[in-house]
Amino acid sequence: MSTQQRYESKDYRDQPDDFDDKHYTVAGYSTGIAWFVRGYVPAGWDDDDRIYYGWLDDQVHAIMVGDDRVFTVDVDDLTEIDELAFCHECGQVGCGHDGLDRS
Ligand SMILES: [Zn+2]
Repeated sequence: MSTQQRYESKDYRDQPDDFDDKHYTVAGYSTGIAWFVRGYVPAGWDDDDRIYYGWLDDQVHAIMVGDDRVFTVDVDDLTEIDELAFCHECGQVGCGHDGLDRS
């Protein structure tokens, strides 16, 4: 199960899958840490149906790999990185201790 799937929730239902299985560095934070994106920031909350609806297309909820805090980040601040450029366990760019084959 990928980190993305772990954090999937109904809040991000019906959103485009622009960020699935991708990882990023985020401007304004260390370039040594990888992030994944949970989805666009939900635009509204329907109190009757108790669901989020729509989304902001310029802001996302992003989480550092290996962490669980959710940050709101501008889409423009995301830079996609190679899947082998970072550690899928601790999220550090350049760490290879997750056991993935980088040969
Ligand atoms: Zn690591």
